[in-house]
Amino acid sequence: MKVPLLDLSCQNAPLADELTEVFRGVLDSSRFILGPEVEALEASIAEMSGAKHGIGVSSGTDALILALMALKIGPGDEVICPAFTFFATAGSVARVGAVPVFVDSCPVCFNIDVASTAAAITERTKAILPVHLFGQAAEMDGILALAREHGVAVIEDGAQALGAGYRGKPVGAIGDFGTFSFFPSKNLGGFGDGGMVVTNNDELADLAKVLRTHGSRPKYFHQHVGGNFRLDPLQAALLSVKLPHYEGYTAQRQSNAAYYTEQLSGLDGVCSADPSHCGCLEAQDEALEGTAIVLPMAYPHSDHIWNQYTLRVRGEGRRDALKEHLGSAGIGSEIYYPLTMDKQECFEKNSRTPAPPKTAHRLADEALSIPIYPGLTTEMQDTVVAEIANFLRS
Ligand SMILES: *Cc1c(COP(=O)(O)O)cnc(C)c1O
Repeated sequence: MKVPLLDLSCQNAPLADELTEVFRGVLDSSRFILGPEVEALEASIAEMSGAKHGIGVSSGTDALILALMALKIGPGDEVICPAFTFFATAGSVARVGAVPVFVDSCPVCFNIDVASTAAAITERTKAILPVHLFGQAAEMDGILALAREHGVAVIEDGAQALGAGYRGKPVGAIGDFGTFSFFPSKNLGGFGDGGMVVTNNDELADLAKVLRTHGSRPKYFHQHVGGNFRLDPLQAALLSVKLPHYEGYTAQRQSNAAYYTEQLSGLDGVCSADPSHCGCLEAQDEALEGTAIVLPMAYPHSDHIWNQYTLRVRGEGRRDALKEHLGSAGIGSEIYYPLTMDKQECFEKNSRTPAPPKTAHRLADEALSIPIYPGLTTEMQDTVVAEIANFLRS
């Protein structure tokens, strides 16, 4: 049985009639830039993330750039972000002319390490950019405490975490800005590119809105140099059709994750990450002696939305071997992410890495994400589990 990494038709096919109908609505309106469809989606996403304002933008990447611009971050400034993340997190910092500063991650939850962040702060630091990686919230209490102590801003990269929670609060409006992506593989996947910026700060929201349309107010009068970062109403209208089903999608991802954990932890050489090893690779290594695969875990204080179910495959070359084994059995998997930001060629000169991010480097060698999407059947999950069992015996 073939098991793709992601099958978007599970979500989109049942909504085809409704999607076609809203497409017709936008077509008939002849209104193709901003407008009521975008405003409706902005209100919904703001509410989901506990924010006062939502600003619809052209992608998750542009959401980050717009947030950085509204915070007036640019040349001479530093922004701290994890070395283990998708490129856009760090790329956006460089795009506004600031210097990305790369810090380590936690070996348990894969998120930005608070102690490494603290050690990286200088007088040039203007913001901390934690990522809620794979759908689980970063340790926001520690990040916020640092930000307050040093008077720096916090931008939450929530591209993979719309609707995730941290200590009872939705992610997005915990810091000064939150950013989301509607890239098709994200949990609320669109029909092209799209994104959203959220904030509770009236002034920042206002500036972000102005910057979204070339920094003009009124039209043709420019106090700022902005850009074209708009979300279009067709995308917003289509996303609004999927939105009422979002909780259901999340529930399926969560039950798929629970099923994997239950089935896989029964195999020899497999165990779940232990929260007591948070932030400490050495202690974890000692405890994991002889373990072949470490399963991801959700902290009790976080509502994990499982954008990815990411294994750590231990031992040199073993991750790549498992990926190949699964591939030859018709099972999709992906390495998120094979090369950390501190090792990217484009950041050789214009970045800073205060200390070697050794956990991040290890994660880049060991991480492998397996299919978790809503619509994945139990039979398909059993196939994945059986092939992992075969691999462990080989
Ligand atoms: C997907 C993603 C982005 C960028 O979103 P796009 O909509 O693809 O531009 C940014 N950060 C993270 C962590 C992501 O996963």
